[in-house]
Amino acid sequence: MPIQILSEDLASKIAAGEVIERPASVIKELVENSLDAGARDIRVEVRGGGQRLLRVADDGCGIPSDEVPIAFARHATSKLKCAEDLFAIRTLGFRGEALPSIAAVSRMTLITRAQGQDNGTIFKVEGSRVLNHQPFGAPQGTVISVEELFSNVPARLKFMKAPGSEAARIAELVNAFALAYPHVRFTMVNDGRLLFQSYGNGKLSDVMLKIVGVETAHEMIEVSNPTDTTSLIRVHGYISPPSVHRGTRKLQYLFVNGRWIEDRSISHAILEAYHTLLMVGRFPLFILNIQVPLDAVDVNVHPTKQQVRFREPGDVYSVVQRTVRRALTAHAPIPVIGTRLPADDGRPTADDRRPTSADRGPQSATAAIGTPAAQPDPNPAGTNTGPQPPQPAGDTTIRLPNYGPRMPMLRVIGQIASTYIIAEGPDGMYLVDQHSAHERVLYEQFMAEHAAKLSPSQELLEPVTINLSPAQWGICTDQHAALEHVGFRIESFGGQTVMLRALPAVCKNRDPRKVLSEVLDEMGENGAAPMAQDSEARLITSICKSAAVKGGQILSLDEMRTLIRDLEKTTSPRTCPHGRPTMIQLNLGQLEKEFGRRG
Ligand code: ADP
Ligand code: MG
Repeated sequence: MPIQILSEDLASKIAAGEVIERPASVIKELVENSLDAGARDIRVEVRGGGQRLLRVADDGCGIPSDEVPIAFARHATSKLKCAEDLFAIRTLGFRGEALPSIAAVSRMTLITRAQGQDNGTIFKVEGSRVLNHQPFGAPQGTVISVEELFSNVPARLKFMKAPGSEAARIAELVNAFALAYPHVRFTMVNDGRLLFQSYGNGKLSDVMLKIVGVETAHEMIEVSNPTDTTSLIRVHGYISPPSVHRGTRKLQYLFVNGRWIEDRSISHAILEAYHTLLMVGRFPLFILNIQVPLDAVDVNVHPTKQQVRFREPGDVYSVVQRTVRRALTAHAPIPVIGTRLPADDGRPTADDRRPTSADRGPQSATAAIGTPAAQPDPNPAGTNTGPQPPQPAGDTTIRLPNYGPRMPMLRVIGQIASTYIIAEGPDGMYLVDQHSAHERVLYEQFMAEHAAKLSPSQELLEPVTINLSPAQWGICTDQHAALEHVGFRIESFGGQTVMLRALPAVCKNRDPRKVLSEVLDEMGENGAAPMAQDSEARLITSICKSAAVKGGQILSLDEMRTLIRDLEKTTSPRTCPHGRPTMIQLNLGQLEKEFGRRG
């Protein structure tokens, strides 16, 4: 094919692809413009997951009538004048790309009245075609409506997720903006219903309360770095204490000079600060604002400005880490957790199992079996000589040999690391992972009851209200029918709050809030399954995971025996519903070899 210059229309669609990936990208660009315009009240409206309508209305400075058409030209901006400005960017936008990019892939209507002008303007565009441009009565500020997003880019349209999950991404974004700009009042309306509203009173704690819920908000620790240092880096915000954690990184917000960014290095600095305080696989919540001098950060390194580059990344890393660590240390002195006093002779004392703040995590919730117990420190600091989880030792430990579908009868001996059951079988020693084993038992029970058309539901004595994260809310909305089918009864309770009236019977002894939250998080991690049947099996798997006894829970001998008996009755006792082994074996021959009894 000979080289040719792309048509204006095609070139602009390609350029738009960089900036406008999905409905949430449109909202991000429009809200950034509203903030740059000094707005104090920003209203976001979404219909049909953004495909039907995306609208951002603000009370900012507006656009003067004669400048309106220019705003839609490529590389048109009022925020940069010369190259030097690029190294001291105060505004969120600066590339002059958003409006033309959005217009290239939708039908756009702008109504605006500039500060000090008597008349407003209406301007309607589709691609590069102006459909309407005339004076229009309007209050000061700007309203931009975007309709039929991507209807002229079928390839993009195919990548759109279900309306609930696109709306959830937008809600998440609006939450983040509200956290970064507590003095601006944000409202989000989805399909005609109010989903979120912040006060705009300048208090970060008030916005946080709306987003993480009252209970969690009360536990959060305020952090800020001391102002008496020479460092020009300022850090302030909230972090969760070690007792509050989640299975995902969802409620982790990082802002640099008012931009919501992703930065693996800073996230790592924060996680490092929690070192030894959190179980592996659990994540803290944080809302951290980092302020650095404008010339100490390059914001022009990513098409959607999601990443920034610091001039001195090491300084930022260490200031953040010290600030978080100091706050955590002040909150709960670290030496009492997971370490022993110097005089300790290594023998366990009664105090060793004294509950600490770290014991109040979701793992200690009452499960179907077992009593709430302290969690073992996964990464003990100092001289902890307590039991360690067994390590796979070369070829000494082998997987269970294939006995056919069933397992041999086992005699329970005890428990190690509050996580594995030691048992004796006809040909050696077995280690059973209590969590995977229980998952298998519950899964088969659930499936059997499901097949027998027994109601899987257990009514709660008192319905509970639950504040969901935007992602959880999106999944809950999209998958409502599936959730009901497996035994949840969930009603909308306004905004991102739902009321839970019943939950699957296998979870009856668990904290209903945690069950719903864990199941929604798992569904979010798995993504939407292509086949309905497949997705129901996965849903049931995550319910059983949530209902099963956890690693780190001390079990009585009777509870262990019951679990092993129940496991023997299952059809696939050797793997959990996720396909991981429930047990490993060390046979007598191997034992003899290890002890040098046999060559
Ligand atoms: P950029 O934000 O990079 O300047 P945009 O394409 O997003 O580029 O916007 C172009 C220009 O339109 C802005 O520089 C600004 O002058 C004007 N503009 C856009 N949205 C608004 C708004 N909500 N209020 C006031 N002015 C706006
Ligand atoms: Mg912009």
